[in-house]
Amino acid sequence: MTHGQALNPHVAVVTRFAPSPTGRLHAGHGASAIAAHDFARSRGGRFVLRIEDIDGTRSRREHVDAILADLRWLGLTWDGPVLFQSQHLAAYDAALDTLRDKRLLYPCFCTRKEIAREVAESMAAPHHGPDGPVYPGTCRSLTPEARAAGIATRPHCWRLDMAKASVLAGPLEWTDHGQGVRADPQAHGDVVLARKDAPASYHLAVTIDDAAQGVSDIIRGKDLYPATHVHRLLQALLGLPVPRYHHHALVTDARGERLAKRNGAPSLESLRLAGTDGAAVAAELRAGRVPLGIADTTP
Ligand code: GLU
Repeated sequence: MTHGQALNPHVAVVTRFAPSPTGRLHAGHGASAIAAHDFARSRGGRFVLRIEDIDGTRSRREHVDAILADLRWLGLTWDGPVLFQSQHLAAYDAALDTLRDKRLLYPCFCTRKEIAREVAESMAAPHHGPDGPVYPGTCRSLTPEARAAGIATRPHCWRLDMAKASVLAGPLEWTDHGQGVRADPQAHGDVVLARKDAPASYHLAVTIDDAAQGVSDIIRGKDLYPATHVHRLLQALLGLPVPRYHHHALVTDARGERLAKRNGAPSLESLRLAGTDGAAVAAELRAGRVPLGIADTTP
């Protein structure tokens, strides 16, 4: 049985910012990047960058360029080369093989529609996880023949057999702001680790890459707190080091809603191109204030 290894406290601090280039950054992203950057710099550590472009259909090079320009404009510097997930696919494949060898993965042929129908028709009350109803496990019990036939002919993703994986890993903990948290990955059900349309899911890629980049401390928004339970389990299954986590509150607008494009939050790029002083914007975000022009997104 493998448990993730406890992090050596003497290892230098390494933090990261890991945006998905599926849109432009807003002030919430900026605040998160600054928090991770400052955490490392104030401890003599390294700050690394990763572009989470695993989603080939939604990721765009123009977003990558804007993201890098925005970070520079905020006055942030990063260490070493930027890791692009699209160039790290072999590592995800190897991890999937490891998990397959442990018989912890199964192919799933269900469409979204089929899953929704199954959940709706389920006699038992559907089990809700942090991301909505959990997968009802339809494909978990397929025969080896049905699996083999499906793999050859039908689109499929690969899911983690959560119950099996949790038993194999045993009880797990992680820390958030230094507080011990008992991992509860089961609430997520059989999560997808390799998507139909992408070679790895967020959960798998983020866990592998945080280890690959030697990240000691993960500073990111509270919206990703629930996902950490799954990441902790994957660390144990793959024998990866366990970073310390520091989830932070999300930046909200004048209405108290979290910043998002759909809520009308302006992009950092629009401020940059309008000639706004990036250092001044960064100073406001460091002070926990939402800079003028960002705070008021009332239509
Ligand atoms: N790529 C994710 C996002 O942009 C962040 C991943 C993470 O910080 O773990 O939402």
